[in-house]
Amino acid sequence: MPRLTVTQVADGLHLASTGLVNWILAEEDGQVTLVDAGYPGDACRVRESLDRIGRTMDDVAAVLVTHAHVDHIGGIAWSGLTAPVLTGADEVPHAKREFLQQATEKDVLLRAWNPRVLLWSLRILAVGATRDVAISDVTAVASGTPLDLPGRPVAVPTPGHTSGHTAYHFGGAGAVATGDALVTGHPVTGVRRPHLLPGFFSHAPDEVARGLDALTALDADAVLPGHGPLWRGSVRDAVELARA
Ligand SMILES: [Zn+2]
Repeated sequence: MPRLTVTQVADGLHLASTGLVNWILAEEDGQVTLVDAGYPGDACRVRESLDRIGRTMDDVAAVLVTHAHVDHIGGIAWSGLTAPVLTGADEVPHAKREFLQQATEKDVLLRAWNPRVLLWSLRILAVGATRDVAISDVTAVASGTPLDLPGRPVAVPTPGHTSGHTAYHFGGAGAVATGDALVTGHPVTGVRRPHLLPGFFSHAPDEVARGLDALTALDADAVLPGHGPLWRGSVRDAVELARA
């Protein structure tokens, strides 16, 4: 059973992690913006993460989705969250499962000779990686200006991992939720520093450079990735490390 940790990043900003995947809680005036929500089997841990910061499911004002992979949206449908769900315009049809830009079971099986991939695949099966996670009620988020939500996040299109992948910049806290555009750890890579996920996870590879450029332009000295630990340092330096 994955163990939940909730790390305070700044006033009102928290990074929740199960070791397999992360999500973010931004709290302001008793309301919470959730960025991503883990696997279907993490539904109880999403509730627990809210409990740890003294809030409940009813306090969630909105769920911002970085991208519509099962490890980031699974906890939305399966936890019974009723808050509005928003994501990048190009990610909306993906979240509705009008198409799928996700590593298939075959992609994983072909790499199961790698012990890291094999172990990871067994762990993600246990948290519902093959369950249906389509979200019917999801709308496009406006990018480039602060949203009227706790933490005043700004949506930043960061294509590459998926076509509509979107990061969220919390300017007041000097932090950015990078989703899977930039990670700091993953059971499959075993790397513990800013890096990119392996190619078979990337579904718009021609756009990766553009997505990283968008991150480089942000003023942030805390990186909250979709996978791996909190990284303290400028996002520009993190991108440089990932590119190296
Ligand atoms: Zn992911």
